[in-house]
Amino acid sequence: MIISAPRLIAGLRYQQQPGNRFNGLPETNISVNFPVADNRTTELHWDMKSTDNTSIWSDETMYDAFMRRDVSYEGLFFVGVRTTGIFCRPTCGARRPKRENVEFYPSAKDALLNGYRPCKMCKPLEPLGATPDYIQKLIDILGTSPSRKITDYDLVKMNIEPNRVRRWFKMNHGLTFQGYQRMLRINGALHRMQDGATVTDAAFENGYDSLSGFSEAFRKIVGTNPAAGKLVNVINIRRLTTPLGPMIAGATNEGICLLEFTERRAFEVELRDLSRLLKANLVYGDNGHISRLEKQLAEYFDGKRKDFDVPLVTPGSKFQKSVWRQLRTIPYGKTRSYEEQAVAINKLKAIRAVASANGANRISIVIPCHRVIGKDGSLTGYGGGLWRKRWLLDFEKKNTG
Ligand SMILES: [Zn+2]
Repeated sequence: MIISAPRLIAGLRYQQQPGNRFNGLPETNISVNFPVADNRTTELHWDMKSTDNTSIWSDETMYDAFMRRDVSYEGLFFVGVRTTGIFCRPTCGARRPKRENVEFYPSAKDALLNGYRPCKMCKPLEPLGATPDYIQKLIDILGTSPSRKITDYDLVKMNIEPNRVRRWFKMNHGLTFQGYQRMLRINGALHRMQDGATVTDAAFENGYDSLSGFSEAFRKIVGTNPAAGKLVNVINIRRLTTPLGPMIAGATNEGICLLEFTERRAFEVELRDLSRLLKANLVYGDNGHISRLEKQLAEYFDGKRKDFDVPLVTPGSKFQKSVWRQLRTIPYGKTRSYEEQAVAINKLKAIRAVASANGANRISIVIPCHRVIGKDGSLTGYGGGLWRKRWLLDFEKKNTG
């Protein structure tokens, strides 16, 4: 048996430390269907024995997930590679080491404490899906001067490879970098007009040198003529980074209407529905409500905020709205069952409808649908993936002290 340097430093592995629970998972057997990005369903088992709360999945299960780069295990374990002294996320793109050369840790901290260094490829210490520095730089530039056009030539001058930028925007926003910039400029012009600027002023201030070019781009993105822009409602969309991976926030002029994890299965459908319900086109760009939400979300993930006070826009049936309102009364760190929720809105027999309205919530975390669990304590479902629900519940519980 090879005993490597990392093992010698702190000695014990996670599984051998009594009382050290894997991410605080409860001591019950949970078996759930786990929706993953590509529509497969993975069956996950947490095997926790009440007499021995140190075991979680078997090493074999974790190694298997690691081999498959199974995204549904993201954040749930980390892999130390003895031969290199480096630790990785389960989904790391690096070549797979042999079974006998890896060990598993419940958190990045545990891997560090055991002497492992973070992998440069999968960056296990960074939040999942963090925005790379060179992209952040571009977003910052466009944030302060939205009328500016950054061309491929500009990128090369900044020592940034245009291809990488293109690929990142395509993957994270589904548009080219040029398309993204166009949306920002149109959005800037739209908000200027809604603040009282003329079409001409709004166009020129936002980098358009011809009114016809502006009108055409405006129609394509917003769906109306610039002249009608004052009255038009758009849904501004922005990508936010969180410790649980990127989220997309959406807001109209009235308030936040969307906050979802991006790889949620029904995400595309949800965007379409929202656009139809609010009769508004989706436009990448900022608005005041999103900035406010971003700040509050950061405080939430720092453990410093327990509820949100951003205005919300929640189109839906009367029943759905009553369910969503009821969700907001579940205190931070607490959970309720679907039955309890049904009783709370005086619809004792409507448990299934309550569950379905719960699932139709479009504003994750702010409307805390993650705080509703099965009567038997099982996690049941979560659009953003059960691992995130587990994480959020553990996190809130820990922060209530
Ligand atoms: Zn790695």
